[in-house]
Amino acid sequence: MGAGAIKGFNDIFPASPEPFLHSALWHRIFSISAEVMQSYGYMPAWFPVVEYTELFTRGLGTDTDVVSKEMYSFTDRGDRSLSLRPEGTASAVRAYIEHHLGRNEPRQKWYYHGPMFRAERPQKGRYRQFYQMGVECFGAKGPAADVEVLQMLQAICRALGIGPLRLRINTLGDKESRGAYLQALAGFLQQHQGGLCKACQVRTQANPLRALDCKEEGCRALMRGAPDILTSLSAASRTWFRQYEALLSRAHLTYERSPTLVRGLDYYTEAIFEAATDALGTQDAVFGGGRYDGLVELLGGPATPAVGFAAGLERLALLMASADAESGLAPDVALVAADAEGAADVLQMAQELRVLPIAPGQRSHRVLVEADATKLKQPLKRADRAGARYVLVVGENERQVRVGSLKRLSDGAQQQVPLSTVQMARAMADFVPETG
Ligand code: AMP
Repeated sequence: MGAGAIKGFNDIFPASPEPFLHSALWHRIFSISAEVMQSYGYMPAWFPVVEYTELFTRGLGTDTDVVSKEMYSFTDRGDRSLSLRPEGTASAVRAYIEHHLGRNEPRQKWYYHGPMFRAERPQKGRYRQFYQMGVECFGAKGPAADVEVLQMLQAICRALGIGPLRLRINTLGDKESRGAYLQALAGFLQQHQGGLCKACQVRTQANPLRALDCKEEGCRALMRGAPDILTSLSAASRTWFRQYEALLSRAHLTYERSPTLVRGLDYYTEAIFEAATDALGTQDAVFGGGRYDGLVELLGGPATPAVGFAAGLERLALLMASADAESGLAPDVALVAADAEGAADVLQMAQELRVLPIAPGQRSHRVLVEADATKLKQPLKRADRAGARYVLVVGENERQVRVGSLKRLSDGAQQQVPLSTVQMARAMADFVPETG
């Protein structure tokens, strides 16, 4: 056995020393984002984490970094080449085709959360197993779907309490536009071979688009003078993009057009985008996505327009961990039995509180039961550490008078309450500390 988890693979649990790996934070991201996505009419979907390697080589493109350098591929016992999924869209498209979903109702709106795997060099914000949430909208050709997806992205950030991200957009046009552009770009790269890094010299023939987002300083400077795809767009793609930009501004979405934005996968067409932050250092992209009108057909299905995005949950968690750590799942109250007989009372009260809402129409109480310690010190310490807002001890005295002392842990203030869960719930919602 190795010395621990594999580098680039994280444990997510309640007491993680890394604030962004606290499980309560992750739970919040999952549940809040799911609610937002549902409010846009998207339904949850789950797909396998392992697929035939060919799905990714065909779907994402063999020249992409993800496929050529970063896939976890292996041969199984049946001698088939399988890969851990590096992203979610290819599987969603495979499922869409396999279950003939386009036949009855091409319009499908799905969201997912799950682990992805890429053998990249681990660093802050970049891991080998990482989680993505994503959405896929099948069957809509017009740019309204693209704009709605961006509104959803913004709503997710707002709901998670993350400040606005910088939105960069670009277009890759349709097949015809892309063909014309690749020629223009390859010509430009050919003329400037001397100024290009080794990798981009190879890309000139193999995949000129990749040169546009090369990280080498020399290439970046050169690419500022590269031809702009806008000049190669077909009439249809030009109209589409114009409508898209008009809808973006009508929806008050602030963005910057970046002619060098190409994204790392081959399947994109028309509008693509990235939402980034200054708060994460070099791994600054949080959301990435765009339209992929050719992918369903490329993978053997009927021609189906589609658009989607994916966001890295570690990066969202990093942004949230700096804003507000975990509190989200802390118990509302800890009920502590001071003796063995108190245990029955405490268990009973906890059961009742767990079905009583904290306020009308809201969730019910979270209750931590501490009923097996011989001394009070330990359970009180644990209640404090768990972040409980209130604590109430039930011992012989409380049992006799049927009254206990509800203590607010943030400041130690107390209020006497009858040992009735309804009255306790009321006291917690509207706490009146005793004076004197
Ligand atoms: P992509 O699938 O490459 O378009 O990435 C979409 C989003 O997933 C990025 O903006 C990141 O937030 C996240 N992401 C991609 N690769 C990684 C990684 N290796 N580690 C953590 N997050 C990642």
